[in-house]
Order: sequence, then C-alpha cells, then structure tokens
Amino acid sequence: MASQPPAAPPAREKLPKNRPLVSAPAPLGRVLPYVLFAAALVGAALTVVFSQGHYGLSWLTLALFLAATLVGAREIARLRQAAHVHELVMEGAHGGIWAWNPVTKKLHASPRLLAILGYPENSLTDSEAWLALMHPDDVARYSRAVADHLKGITDHFYCEYRVRHHNGDYRWIASRGIAVRNRHGVATLMAGSVTEITERKQDEERIHYLAHHDQLTGLPNRLLLAVHLPQALRRAKREGSRVAVLFVDLDRFKNINDSLGHNVGDRILHTAAGRLRQALRESDSIVRQGGDEFIVILSDLQSSAQAAQVGAKLLEAVAQPYQEGDHAFFLTASIGVAVYPDDGKDMDTLLRNADTAMYAGKSAGGNTVHFYTGALNERLQSRVYVERRLHQALDNGEFSLYYQPQIDIASGRLVGAEALLRWHDGEQMVPPDSFIPIAEESGLIVPIGQWVLDTAIAQAAAWHRAWGERQGLPPRIAINLSARQFWGGGLAEHILERLGAEGLPASAIELEITESVLLRQEGDSLAELRRLEGSGLGLSLDDFGTGYSSLSYLRLLPIDTLKIDKSFIAALDEHTVEAETSDALAIVRAIIAMAHSLNFQVVAEGVESTGQLALLRDLNCDSYQGYLESRPLPAAEFAARYLG
Ligand code: C2E
Ligand code: CA
Ligand code: CA
Repeated sequence: MASQPPAAPPAREKLPKNRPLVSAPAPLGRVLPYVLFAAALVGAALTVVFSQGHYGLSWLTLALFLAATLVGAREIARLRQAAHVHELVMEGAHGGIWAWNPVTKKLHASPRLLAILGYPENSLTDSEAWLALMHPDDVARYSRAVADHLKGITDHFYCEYRVRHHNGDYRWIASRGIAVRNRHGVATLMAGSVTEITERKQDEERIHYLAHHDQLTGLPNRLLLAVHLPQALRRAKREGSRVAVLFVDLDRFKNINDSLGHNVGDRILHTAAGRLRQALRESDSIVRQGGDEFIVILSDLQSSAQAAQVGAKLLEAVAQPYQEGDHAFFLTASIGVAVYPDDGKDMDTLLRNADTAMYAGKSAGGNTVHFYTGALNERLQSRVYVERRLHQALDNGEFSLYYQPQIDIASGRLVGAEALLRWHDGEQMVPPDSFIPIAEESGLIVPIGQWVLDTAIAQAAAWHRAWGERQGLPPRIAINLSARQFWGGGLAEHILERLGAEGLPASAIELEITESVLLRQEGDSLAELRRLEGSGLGLSLDDFGTGYSSLSYLRLLPIDTLKIDKSFIAALDEHTVEAETSDALAIVRAIIAMAHSLNFQVVAEGVESTGQLALLRDLNCDSYQGYLESRPLPAAEFAARYLG
C-alpha cells in the first residue's frame, strides 16, 4: 500500500484471492492420511480375496484399516478447518482484515472491512485503489508509516487515517498490521486489521474544540494562539516573510455592558467577533484573548503595509451598526500592530509590543490602527499627518498613475492594463495600501478617485487616438473604484460625461470594484453599476476569493470579469508546501470552472512565475497580470513597451 515499491526482488508467487492467513499443514502432512487410508483399503481387499480362511491376518488388516480411517478423517477435518479459518476470520472479525503484497500491490480486503466503507465484496483489489480513497491530507503520513515498517524501522505498522466511504463521507479508521518477511528479511506480505474510529475521532475533535474555543464567540481561545503563533513565526523565518500580530480592543465596550446589561453585551460581542473573523482570510488566525480583546495573526506578509490594510478592514467591520430590538448601536475598536521580525522575534515580545501599540492608539482617541514604533516610517504612523498631506498631494500634483499590462493567456497578446495609483511624497514613493485606507476613511478618496478616473480616461483616449487605428483594439484600461465613491451618487453620470468629452468608446474602460461596493447600503451602487454596464463599460470584481460572495450571488450582479486574488496565485507556487499547493490549485480550478459556467472572464492577479502561468493555462484561465510579465509602469514607459 506504500506508493513506492520497497527494495525487494519481485515475488514469484501471487497472492491468491483466498489465501489463508493461518499457516496450512506441510505438503507431506496433507497427503499422508489419504495414502494411509488408500493403502489400508487396498490391503483389506487383498486380504479378503487371498486370505482363504486365515482370518487372523484379515482382522489385523481391518484394524489397520480402521485406525488409518480414524487418523485420516481427523486429518481431513483439520485441513478443512485450516482452510476455513481464513474465511472465518475474514467474515467474523468485528473490525476488518486486510492482507497486502508489497511487491505486486495486490490487496485483499475482508468483506467486513469493505462493509465498513460501503463497498461491495471483491472490490479494492490493489493498493492504488485504496490510496485513491484516502483523504489527501493523510496519504503522506500513511505512506511513511507503511514504508517505515517495510524497512524494519518500526516493529509493527499503525496508522489512523481517513478513507472515503462509498457515500462520499470520510470515515476514520485505525489500521494495524505486521509484515511477513522472507529469509533475506524482505517483506513479502503485510497483513493486519482495521477498526473504525470515526466516533472516537469526532469526540476527540469536540473535546479539542471545547478546550480551545471560547463558548461565547466560538472563536479559538489563547490555547490555540500558543500553537498558531509560534508555527507562523517558524514558517516566516524559513521563508523570509513577515507575520503581523494585531491586538484588537473594542473602545468603551464597558459602557455597553454597564448601560445595557451583560446579555446585550454578550450578543454584541458575539456579532463583533463574527464580523472580525469574516473580514480575515481563511489563513489568518483570530483568538479571543478575553473580555473585549481579540488577537489576530496575519502570516505570509510581504510588507507591514498589508497589515495596515487588514487593520483598516477590521475597523470597518466593527463599525457597522449593531441592531438590538429597535435600537442601533455603534462601536469602534483600537488596533495595535507589531510585526515580525522588525518589532520582535518571539511570541511574547510581539504580543507585548502589539499591546503597547494598542494602548497608544486608544489614548490618542481610539478607532485607529496603531503600529508599534519602528515598523513603519514614523511620519506614516500619524493618520493626521497622512490626511493633511493627502489634501496637499492632489493640489501639488504628487499623484501619478502606473499601468500594469494584462495578457491573454492563449495568444500571449496584450488585452488591457490596470491603472494603479502612485503617490510621490517628497523623496519617497508611498504604496497605495498605506494611504488609500486613510483616504477612504476620511472621504478624501472621492476627489482622489475622481482624479484617477479623469486621468485614466484621458490617457486611454490619447492612446486610442495615437495607436488605436494602427493596432486594432487598443488595450482596455481598468480603473479601481472605492465603495465610498458610490455613496454621493452621480458616479455613472460623471464617467459617461468624461467618456463623451474625450470621444472614447465605453468599451475601452473597465471598472474594478470589490465586494464592499455591493455590501454598503449608502447610495444606490447597484443602480449605478447597471447603468454603467448598460452603457458598455466593462465591470470586474476585484480580489475575488477574499470576501463573502458566493458565485450564485454574483450571477445577479452586472459584472463580466472576475479577478482571482493574488493570494491564491501566490499559493500556487512550486515552493509552497505540497498540501497547500493542492488546496490552492483546487480552489483556483473551482473558481475558474464556475466563473466560466456563469460566462465570466477570469483574470489571475499576481502571477510571478512561469510555473504559475503554466498551471493557469491548464486551468483555462483567460488572462493574467503580474510581475512575470511586468510591474506597473509609468504611462510613457508602458506606451514605449507595448504600444510603440
Ligand atoms: P489591487 O487592485 O489588487 O492591485 C493589484 C496590486 O497587485 C497592485 O499593488 C500591483 O502592483 C500588485 N501586483 C501586480 N502584480 C503583482 C505580482 O506579480 N506580485 C505581487 N505581489 N503584487 C503584484 P499596488 O499598486 O500597490 O496597489 C495596491 C492596492 O491599492 C490595489 O490592489 C488597490 O486595491 C489599491 N489601489 C491602487 N490604485 C488605486 C486607485 O486608483 N483607486 C483605488 N480606489 N484603489 C487603488
Ligand atoms: Ca484592482
Ligand atoms: Ca486585486
């Protein structure tokens, strides 16, 4: 059943279907009673014919004959019994029995074992079939246990793993066995028994869950933090990535408990916990530290700015109104961030520093994400500073747009470009992730977003005029929109007016929105989107996979393209752990297949390697963008490279 053949010469004998597991008598022992019996019979007959009255001799022969018959009958019965023991064991054992030839890979699974798993008799006749039913997460551990025993490292084989029942569920089984070896020590047969342990495993999981989860919020508790954080740190050390620890504390939560009572307080806490969890990626961890405090671990970060973005997302999640009867309540949170390795290399230091940062934020008025000093540029830490500078940035012309090419995977041709905002703050280039959340919170994203729209449309029109005719279709320019830009209404109006003024066909522009656009109640974003789509603009859903949307819900929306979030593409990398790769692959495959069934185009973001591109090609992904083709480029450089 191991996937790799052990280093043994091919066995001459095959394992017959009903090969007894109990040893049978040696060949001589098997025929002897028949020979004795036959000899006695012949002897008796000869005696009768030739004795001519010498009955003494014939009595002796008869006695011999009887004795031989008795011995023979017993021996025959014993033989029969031996032949049946195997069947009896196979059918009678409470658990299942198996026998496996490690060389030919032939497997014999007892009827009882097959019945546990819902398969008919005489099925699963080789280890390939067996492995195919095994839970993918258990295969490596299982194969190791088999190989260790075949090599003689362990004195018996034992493994607990999951196998797919005929009805599609997985069942836990415990399998134990032992190898039979030839005189060279090479295993020629392995046999053993199996018991189903699904219930026990479920009990264990339940106990584990209760021990590790907080009853009020259903979130993991500190016990799991002590497991997850060191794990994330070890991995970050190995891979040279970052881990952020976020200390989240609800502001003035005590007031709610004091004025509305603990029952209401508990319900609100439960809701807030659920929203925090939902705002995170699956791979992030969140635990309830106690009271109204939560700790979030973000692993595999490339920069601290990503933590700022997640922090802003968490603040927004907490800030949604809480409905209690006829009343709506509002809450804010303070978040302190410490990042490995800049702010600490071990769990205790990181937790302490995140806590300190949280208090600093709280004393500055709360409702903020505060970094432990040293993680980000000192000036950037001050929200007030960034906000003031953003106002001036627009007037001072400190913004520009960079363009990242989008390539059709089948033809390798340029089909579009995404416009990405850049802020040159004096000497430094501030990444959008660290100022867009602030611009969104302060409302500044509205004038900034308008500048982006106007600039990108003007640029697309200029390219259209200069190259459109010669090159066929010029690339479609994708523009990112924030939810906030929809709130005031009039967005569609403005865009259509700009297109008209520039003489640009609507199909030359695509708008990228995130699910947050659709989740907010302010303004009628859906009506605006329908109007834009009706006018011929492309609409794509950005960062797909990181939010809440089910694909069936998407069908109701006026979008035509899905952009698979780059976190999934990053997980497709050859260097990631085997199991993760296959998970990511399965997710990406499912997204593409379902998106196609709904007639959406699929764009993969963040493609950095040829390996990822090859996988995406196999999965029929339509187009991609990423560093593999090019980083976002200033307009002139983009034009020189792609439109010249
Ligand atoms: P996004 O819309 O998901 O944009 C894609 C981001 O991925 C860009 O980051 C891009 O530079 C980066 N990227 C592209 N290829 C790769 C790759 O191969 N590997 C990796 N690791 N990253 C890649 P950027 O330019 O820093 O923008 C970050 C985010 O800021 C954008 O994410 C978008 O949410 C926001 N943003 C950028 N420009 C605008 C804008 O004009 N308006 C609004 N509202 N948001 C914007
Ligand atoms: Ca985008
Ligand atoms: Ca994106």
